[in-house]
Amino acid sequence: MELKPFEKKLYLASPTMHGDELKFMQEAYETNWMSTVGANINESEKMVAEKIGCRDAVALSSGTAALHLAIRLAGERLYGQPKVAHGCLEGKRVFCADMTFDATVNPVAYEGGEAVFIDTEEDTWNMDPVALEKAFDIYPDVKLVVIAHLYGTPGKMDEIRDICDRHGALIVEDAAESFGASYRGRQTGIFGDYGIISFNGNKIITGSAGGMFLTDNVEDAHRIRKWSTQSREDASWYQHEELGFNYRMSNVVAGVVRGQMPYLEEHIAQKKAIYMRYKEGFKDLPVSMNPYDEANSEPNFWLSCMIIDRDAMCRQVRGEKDALYEAEPGKSCPTQILETIAKYNAEGRPIWKPMHMQPIYRMNPFITKSGNGRARSNAYIKEQGITDVGADIFERGLCLPSDNKMTPDQQDMIIEIIKRCFA
Ligand SMILES: *Cc1c(COP(=O)(O)O)cnc(C)c1O
Repeated sequence: MELKPFEKKLYLASPTMHGDELKFMQEAYETNWMSTVGANINESEKMVAEKIGCRDAVALSSGTAALHLAIRLAGERLYGQPKVAHGCLEGKRVFCADMTFDATVNPVAYEGGEAVFIDTEEDTWNMDPVALEKAFDIYPDVKLVVIAHLYGTPGKMDEIRDICDRHGALIVEDAAESFGASYRGRQTGIFGDYGIISFNGNKIITGSAGGMFLTDNVEDAHRIRKWSTQSREDASWYQHEELGFNYRMSNVVAGVVRGQMPYLEEHIAQKKAIYMRYKEGFKDLPVSMNPYDEANSEPNFWLSCMIIDRDAMCRQVRGEKDALYEAEPGKSCPTQILETIAKYNAEGRPIWKPMHMQPIYRMNPFITKSGNGRARSNAYIKEQGITDVGADIFERGLCLPSDNKMTPDQQDMIIEIIKRCFA
């Protein structure tokens, strides 16, 4: 196969539009419902709640905004309403997913709490129930757990729910990447006490931006709608009894969501075909795909990832902002593969760098299934031979071009390029 750079860049994941989005945006324009009220908002909320199987979905300006309000609501339920200008988690620890995008955990800090990161398991790359149980032994007072479903793969929800119930803890479920994925026949986003999804431009379907809060509780939905529109009381003047936010979704954005919703299943089928084609294409290489629980879960296959066998890794050193590697016959590493596919005009990405390795959260406690649970440096972890599953997946894994507009021929090219990295 002759390899030439792609004429048009192959993306990791980019928006895929179908036409109806424009129709609903135009309808918002022509009827002049250009603000945060309108039919697109109502309809998209209804469609999402129906798809997820929850009572209510509240349309917000982003997944991050949805997480912030979900975490604030959980904090208020646990610890009471904070004074104005105080977070609702001040002085409180919260157990958080470690291998995720930082939007999952930042709202804990917005509310004055301290994230305690829980290591990752190898079966789905999500929060390890064994490490979570250990965290409750060390910090028995913790009452809130924030989880995510990385790359669209559901985590071990039965185990996590059982542990949280035994310790009387609430769960905030970040399903930003996993919209449409299911676990034991139920959609992700309803396993937590509060759930959220995102319509960011790179997600399985998009609104260009936006997110939704998911709940079975009418009062919670009412609260979130109120908070997201500056907490205006029902008075003729601006009357405020509690702190508000400007987090509601625009009716124009909701038009894009409304137009995309009928294509969710189609996008998932395309992403699954991409995942399966990579899996087949790599079967003779010393690598595996991001794993999932085939018996109990159906991911949305948002991003296809791979992880290189330990003994097939060439030397790779990562600093805070750059990386080096030493090519070796028969071996490769994420840096080599990402740099090589970039030369052919294709976009991959390293695995999301775990939160406990981020400079901003370096001093936060990090609980592994084998460590003693105290805050520690990454050097200490290495020295003591503690298994740090997140760091290991970050070291050996990468996200592959997963755009649902990629053709089978283009994907075969990517597969061939990666094979040659191992030659
Ligand atoms: C994208 C993403 C978010 C944030 O969603 P936005 O809509 O971009 O604010 C949160 N958590 C995870 C895991 C994400 O991937």
